Amino acid sequence: MSTFLGMPGHLRGVESFPRAAHRGLTNATQRHNLTHATTTIRDKRAAVVAELDDWQELRAAGSAIKRDVLARLPELLEQFEAAVTARGGIVHWARDAAEAGAIVTDLIRATGETEVLKVKSMATQEIALNEQLAAAGIHAQETDLAELIIQLGHDTPSHILVPAIHRNRAEIRDIFLAGMPGVDPDLSTEPADLAEASRVFLRTQFLRTRVAISGCNFGIAETGTVSVVESEGNGRMCVTLPQTLITVMGIEKLLPTYRDLEVFLQLLPRSSTGERMNPYTSLWTGVTPDDGPQEFHIVLLDNGRTRALADSVGREALKCIRCSACLNVCPVYERAGGHAYGSTYPGPIGAILTPQLTGFESADDPNGSLPFASSLCGRCNEVCPVEIPITDILLELRHRKVTEYPPVPEATMMQTLTQLWSHPRLWNAAAGMVALGRVLGGRDHTITSVPGFLGGWTSVRDVAVPPKQTFRQWFAGSEAQHLLTAARRGAEGEA
Ligand code: SF4
Repeated sequence: MSTFLGMPGHLRGVESFPRAAHRGLTNATQRHNLTHATTTIRDKRAAVVAELDDWQELRAAGSAIKRDVLARLPELLEQFEAAVTARGGIVHWARDAAEAGAIVTDLIRATGETEVLKVKSMATQEIALNEQLAAAGIHAQETDLAELIIQLGHDTPSHILVPAIHRNRAEIRDIFLAGMPGVDPDLSTEPADLAEASRVFLRTQFLRTRVAISGCNFGIAETGTVSVVESEGNGRMCVTLPQTLITVMGIEKLLPTYRDLEVFLQLLPRSSTGERMNPYTSLWTGVTPDDGPQEFHIVLLDNGRTRALADSVGREALKCIRCSACLNVCPVYERAGGHAYGSTYPGPIGAILTPQLTGFESADDPNGSLPFASSLCGRCNEVCPVEIPITDILLELRHRKVTEYPPVPEATMMQTLTQLWSHPRLWNAAAGMVALGRVLGGRDHTITSVPGFLGGWTSVRDVAVPPKQTFRQWFAGSEAQHLLTAARRGAEGEA
């Protein structure tokens, strides 16, 4: 089941990152699949980015536009609402996942339908919309190929753009054979055959389903226009064929003007799929009589975004356009896999966005471990098309995490050290006892393992035994001490 960001982490029962990553590291098939897929996308991205002389200027423009949006968000949202309403759309506001789910559920119930189509959408995954609808007796059919694989396989996404990136062709064939009604039992593992099987399956759904749900890549405040960019055309079917269209859009997805799309429709495809442009870019504004859905609702979702917006450092994460370039270059993501993050948003963007959307609710919140899921190599900063300083935000979040929820062993140790360092006698006595640690070193004077939580230190390195004397003990009997004492006496005599 998708992670439900609207609930506190400790109630979700999600594992901490280190524990889940450990399991991901032992999954050789997944690691192989991920390395192959991310390397391919990375190379494609590098090639198409290199074609543009003004790539860095485009990134700077994208960053500046998004910063402007965040600085004027209330004003732009009102402008967007007015524009959508003027064109026949209906705007709804949702504070959190539960509220958004209830709004969408009520809208579907009002149509009398119990089946809906879904365009691939991170916002709806974030609020676990499929699960909320299922609880209300409504089946949401995923139409994006990768999402379909996830849904049929009762799996969870592991990548923003390619949710089934951890699966290979043979696994997908098996999932189709097990879960897709009417599939050819002799289905091969050829990509064309797998795509054709999903096309045949989905075509009947497109023709009979009257309600669709989409996310939104960009909403235009000036015109009330909503857009979805994709590669397969399934999204285009969903936003044109049904009678009713419901779009769930994070409030940070706005752009001020239609013209701003020029920048983002260059940045996004090159950064995400390594393409010069998206094969399908669907744009719609309100309702057009006798053309496309005749009822259009848009749910504007907060779900922690205003909290992130109020944070002068963390708000930069709201510039994200979900391209997934940072995932594809991240050495930690490539090895641990997306499921290890236990979050809708995996990889570097998940490590900075999820803690901000959920907050550090409790000291044992597993998601509090996400800002530590990085080697801080900085490759994510270099590829991000909107110049999000991901590693700076990671460091800030780490600082806050240990300040707000100091780990118990470290906090106790620091309090003890504070006492020791505040009393010279205690300090000298404790420092003298350190020499006892020499017995752990044996004949070669090397400590290879220590007990308790300190064992983590020696699990990957040896430690030299402590010296026989402390510095103070050595100094007290040394020539330097005699010289210092004589100098002091001389100085006192002269005085
Ligand atoms: S943080 Fe940047 S690179 Fe990562 S998904 Fe968002 S826009 Fe793309």
